[in-house]
Amino acid sequence: MRRLIPQFGKTVRWRLTLWYTLVLCLTFILFSAVVDHLTARNLYAQVDRHLTGTLSSVTASLDQASLESAPSTSEHLREEAAELGLPADTLLQVSWPDGSASYVNTRSLPASLLERASRTEAETGLPVTIFDGARQWRVAQILRRAGAFEYRVLLARDLAPIEAQLQSLRRTLLITLPLILLLAAAGGYFLAGRALRPVAEIAAQARHIEAHALDERLAAAKADDEFGQLARVLNDLFARLEHAFQHQRQFLADAAHELRTPVAILRSQADVALERPRMAEDYAVTLAAMRAETEHLSALVDNLLLIARADAEQLPLSVEAVDVMEVVDDACRAVRPLAQSKQLTLRWEIGDEMSVRGDTRLLRRAVINVLTNAIKYTMPGGAITIAVEPEADGAAISVTDTGIGLAPEDVLHIFERFYRADRALMAHEEGSGLGLAIVKMIAELHGGQVKVESVFGAGSRFTIFIPTVHVDPVPVWER
Ligand code: ADP
Repeated sequence: MRRLIPQFGKTVRWRLTLWYTLVLCLTFILFSAVVDHLTARNLYAQVDRHLTGTLSSVTASLDQASLESAPSTSEHLREEAAELGLPADTLLQVSWPDGSASYVNTRSLPASLLERASRTEAETGLPVTIFDGARQWRVAQILRRAGAFEYRVLLARDLAPIEAQLQSLRRTLLITLPLILLLAAAGGYFLAGRALRPVAEIAAQARHIEAHALDERLAAAKADDEFGQLARVLNDLFARLEHAFQHQRQFLADAAHELRTPVAILRSQADVALERPRMAEDYAVTLAAMRAETEHLSALVDNLLLIARADAEQLPLSVEAVDVMEVVDDACRAVRPLAQSKQLTLRWEIGDEMSVRGDTRLLRRAVINVLTNAIKYTMPGGAITIAVEPEADGAAISVTDTGIGLAPEDVLHIFERFYRADRALMAHEEGSGLGLAIVKMIAELHGGQVKVESVFGAGSRFTIFIPTVHVDPVPVWER
């Protein structure tokens, strides 16, 4: 109990119990009011029916008697009343023209009642309620004329027994109310606990998953109810988190692996140079080699940084209107010396301006990556063609080469980070397997995409599609 009280009002279980009890309390009060009203109405209607019925019987009999003989005496009236079955709580008085009165039932009518009754207009026989100063009466009176004979009949019924009945009913309802509320609260608390048990189970399991194994899933997801829905949503979230964590872990491991080789090369070059004193030219050769290695290393770090920033959604994009033709022209000019050094023909045509929204620097980088790949993976004497095609909702930049092409199983993976196809064939070509992953990332950052068509041994075509309107990219952990 001590454990429950501090949570009072704070937990859903307590709140449900309170609402449930409150609603039941209001329902019971309404029900009691209706029962009380209906019972009272019923009892009063019964009294009225009885009064009017008795009044008409009494008057009928008295009319008859009055026509035949002298006015009835109390004795005669009592006989009449006995015949009528007048109950003990109903008083009957007949006032005769000579001022005398006959009455039935032991007590005479209280003077205050008679006085107040005489002041009321209702001599038509319709019952009215009169308070004599001490208690309530239901009174029906009528003025009758039988031939030349006039008399007044007054029937009065004490309402105290009815009030007592109603009071007893109200007392019963009042005593029952707290009992019912107590039962409702206990039942509500128990039921709310049962209904909410899956929440506690989901919370415990989710805590365990968060702390231990992201590959575990909530068992409640099998249920077909609302808790099952919640568990399925959480399971989806866990799956995405697991995917994102794995993705990050893999990326970190691959990055460390890629960085290890150039660092090891640098170190061994330095070690060899430091083994013994050397000529100045030897140091110059070693330093030049080390410099080439650092260039590769710095390009790698640059790529890793770009990817890491994009993953963390911290890549500053300066979105503006970009002429795709200009970007392609610029990229082709930048790689032309490289193509020439490999005796490759680089062809591109500049057409009309084709504007999209994007980041010029990143788009140029994507085109250069695809172009350098085409140069890297095409044998001397080959050709590379770049074309820009307008599309319904954007522009498509395609780079076609007559290079080594890709095996179908490689096509599925070349856009993955650190993936390099068939290293043996072009083992001399430097690369880290990040170039195409960056192209894909840049295309997606612009709401576009990249695809490849390739014939193994004959060449490949990479197409980057950039939409005219900039679309916000989907966060990496939702992909
Ligand atoms: P890398 O730094 O190895 O070039 P990329 O991500 O740019 O990394 O490319 C991934 C792999 O895709 C490359 O290792 C290569 O095997 C293959 N590839 C990329 N472009 C071409 C191309 N034009 N022709 C043939 N293979 C290619």
